[in-house]
Amino acid sequence: MTSSWVQKVVRPKFLKTVVERLAFKMATKGDKILSVFDFDETLIDCDSDDWILKLCPGGQVPEWMWEKHRQRHYMEFLEHFLQYLHDNGVTPKHTLEFMAEAPYTDGMEDVLKFIGKNRDKFDCVIASGANTLFIEATLKARGLEHAVNRIDSNHGHVDDKGRIHVWAYHKHVCTICSADICKGALLSEYVKEQAQKGVTYTKVVYVGDGRNDFCPCKGLGCSDVVMPRKGYKLLERIEALTPENRLKAKVVPWEQGSDVLAVLESFL
Ligand SMILES: [Mg+2]
Ligand SMILES: [Zn+2]
Repeated sequence: MTSSWVQKVVRPKFLKTVVERLAFKMATKGDKILSVFDFDETLIDCDSDDWILKLCPGGQVPEWMWEKHRQRHYMEFLEHFLQYLHDNGVTPKHTLEFMAEAPYTDGMEDVLKFIGKNRDKFDCVIASGANTLFIEATLKARGLEHAVNRIDSNHGHVDDKGRIHVWAYHKHVCTICSADICKGALLSEYVKEQAQKGVTYTKVVYVGDGRNDFCPCKGLGCSDVVMPRKGYKLLERIEALTPENRLKAKVVPWEQGSDVLAVLESFL
């Protein structure tokens, strides 16, 4: 029954179109959309550095510790602070559990869940000036780690004495970004690495809030989308650009995760 129905209805011209479509699909098998997320004030609705300081024994970071690190890099201060936690009996487990309680921005968990369900279409990178341990802790607590291909951030590690260490990424020097991490360089490196593996991106969607998100946005092209958080520095910086320096990518400001989700869903 079925075969005769197919013979009557499926005409050779239609079959040819199907074959052509399949061939096109095979040729573009590696094409995906790359979503890139900042962490602090984007995925989470606070700054992880401020959040972790709430764990300080006595409720306040001692003034002498601030003084000692005033002229130094923040990661050095955080390394010292984590030693202080360790000396006061705060375990890595407790520290990371506390970090995991940092609130995600409204709707952002749904965005990562959506990406996790559509891994054939979307890749996902977190590019952040926080550190890998803190970011992983928040993802794992929500069962979201499988939605993310890579975390590009400062380093975090728990040593065999049960102490957390963090240290700066320090790989690139860039005049636009902060000293520790250039998200623009990281993004272009990732895209190149993926191309070598046969994965190419038809589009990049960059979601962020801060000054150090500007560098990667600057490098994006006209088929890409930049999503700056409303009321934060990245949008301010984009709006201050002169017409001749305008970003090539389309700019779509966001207030909550559902705004990001709507953009990603529109590409399905
Ligand atoms: Mg941020
Ligand atoms: Zn940069």
